Amino acid sequence: MTVQDSEKAIDIASPLPRKSRQAKVVWRNNVVTVGGDAPVRVQSMTNTDTVDAVETAIQVRQLAQAGSEMVRITVNTPEAAAAVPYIREQLDRMGEYVPLVGDFHYNGHRLLTDYPECAQALSKYRINPGNVGKGDKKDKQFGQMIEIAAKYDKAVRIGVNWGSMDQEIMAELMDQNSKRAKPWETRQVMYEALITSAITSAELAKNIGLNPDNIILSCKVSGVQDLISVYRELARRCDYALHLGLTEAGMGTKGTVASTAALSVLLQEGIGDTIRVSLTPQPGEARTQEVVVASEILQALGLRVFVPSVTACPGCGRTTSTTFQELAKKIDDFLRGEMPVWRTQYPGVEAMKVAVMGCIVNGPGESKHADIGISLPGNGEAPAAPVFIDGEKALTLRGEHIAEEFQTLVLQYVQRRYGSAS
Ligand code: SF4
Repeated sequence: MTVQDSEKAIDIASPLPRKSRQAKVVWRNNVVTVGGDAPVRVQSMTNTDTVDAVETAIQVRQLAQAGSEMVRITVNTPEAAAAVPYIREQLDRMGEYVPLVGDFHYNGHRLLTDYPECAQALSKYRINPGNVGKGDKKDKQFGQMIEIAAKYDKAVRIGVNWGSMDQEIMAELMDQNSKRAKPWETRQVMYEALITSAITSAELAKNIGLNPDNIILSCKVSGVQDLISVYRELARRCDYALHLGLTEAGMGTKGTVASTAALSVLLQEGIGDTIRVSLTPQPGEARTQEVVVASEILQALGLRVFVPSVTACPGCGRTTSTTFQELAKKIDDFLRGEMPVWRTQYPGVEAMKVAVMGCIVNGPGESKHADIGISLPGNGEAPAAPVFIDGEKALTLRGEHIAEEFQTLVLQYVQRRYGSAS
């Protein structure tokens, strides 16, 4: 076999740079920059009743500890608005300064006016221009919210959603479309309506006095190709920071895959400054799963590093026992569980690579590429598990307690390599 050399080195793929303005979402000394050269941010949303301030504060903290850099809460009633300052207070008492985003629909103008402490406790308002009011009231009520945001210097996400789109804009564009010699498809008119609604609302907010750097836009739809089409055009037409997310992504694998497919394409093109994965939790599933998926998307694309990665083989006929699956899961859970503390205690640990492999075929090779890796014995292999540290075989584990012993080795490695004394 002859090895043929190519004339030119193969390009190393990487996401295109983003070019948006930079917004700031602030609580106390926690300043979360969004857009420009800031890292792509992870957001999430609670599903507790906001009126229950304690339950909501607990869930906000869980989401923040999982890696959510902003957490949105529903503010839908006077009682919910009254609870917001207490939620903020609970979080501050726990030392959790994650910025809170208020999600407003229909009555946001009244709630923000009647509950100034709520308006101040939130770091950002999400306003849906599709349901701020109808006819004459629309601009007036939208303006009321924007004036409050400007007064308190809060960021605003103008969040358009195709499920609650501004019907007046849609009707007008449909009317214009019917007069075209070659009318567009209805979904193309819908794209235009979403983008028009977002951009005209942003221009209105700017004219009312909101700092344009405090404006973030989103146009959420539930179809992957629709989302890609809309955001490509939205990014072309404006320089506001953009929040990405596939709305109503669905449950489990479907929601995860659809969100990953849509967000990855856009992020690779340099589009999107914050993301949320709108997963419907499966019964018994933690709300934090949406944060795990969002951060894994960014980590897989090489845009961020949040947690040490565990490389594990899929297993095959060479390893029919469940030992290595259990070990891979155990190590992954261990690393994630430790990260809230490790993040401050062991700076840089998030970039660590751990390998848990099922047999001798790829086990030693993959383990050598990791910072620390273990190659478990496959069927018919001697019952020994070599451990590789920094590319060298360091020791061999045997017996009943390989999992516990390997976990201890990982912990020792973290302390040695990332501890302050190192
Ligand atoms: S490393 Fe071994 S057990 Fe794992 S997939 Fe490859 S051949 Fe199968």
